[in-house]
Amino acid sequence: MKILVPVKRVVDYNVKVRVKADGSGVDIANVKMSMNPFDEIAVEEAVRLKEKGVATEVVAVSCGVTQCQETLRTAMAIGADRAILVETDEELQPLAVAKLLKALVEKENPSLVILGKQAIDDDANQTGQMLAALLDWPQATFASKVEVQGDAVEVTREVDGGLETLKLTLPAIVTTDLRLNEPRYVTLPNIMKAKKKPLDTVKPADLGVDVTPRLKTLKVAEPPKRSAGIKVPDVATLVDKLKNEAKVI
Ligand code: AMP
Repeated sequence: MKILVPVKRVVDYNVKVRVKADGSGVDIANVKMSMNPFDEIAVEEAVRLKEKGVATEVVAVSCGVTQCQETLRTAMAIGADRAILVETDEELQPLAVAKLLKALVEKENPSLVILGKQAIDDDANQTGQMLAALLDWPQATFASKVEVQGDAVEVTREVDGGLETLKLTLPAIVTTDLRLNEPRYVTLPNIMKAKKKPLDTVKPADLGVDVTPRLKTLKVAEPPKRSAGIKVPDVATLVDKLKNEAKVI
């Protein structure tokens, strides 16, 4: 069974992002970039399925600029067998990524595609769902447990009221939630091994996909600064302020 894992290169989650002076977007010049954290969880899950003998091959895919190769090398250091870069300098929106992934799925024929539930840069939470719709495959989003059983996959999802369990017939789409697993640390020997694994590059046009953006960003702005709080000496003063100043009780 082959598993395809799309991984996105995003601004590292430890970086405090800055908005460009002209409000056209976020400044990513000289900023540390990393694999989207939910995608690390997706790679880890796919690699664990391979280690259990359930999967036979794990293929990582990234769509974007040349530097996405680094993200793909990380995926291969975690344990993916090979990688595909869909290289473009165009801004990619979720629908374009979903179309590129659909074209790759048709070429690669995986039984399972495991994506992150959302990318921490655009917070769109759309690509997996759109891919499922384009392929007309079943989908289970926000997975906290994934178990392959023959030609089906049982997925536990964290929903408001508790846990929901779904059974999907393969091929299927799964998106990962935070508690699915804890990705392993990438070791130096595995980073070295990953350098020798195959990484193919294709262009959107090779896949017959038009990636022209369909949405226009009008403005990006910093959130308003929070004003500083105050310390009160005792509960009586707090109650008094809540009642007479804030007028909330
Ligand atoms: P989003 O819908 O943008 O929140 O992204 C959800 C998931 O789709 C991510 O966690 C990735 O698994 C996948 N994805 C989104 N954009 C890309 C990309 N440019 N390259 C590879 N995978 C992507």
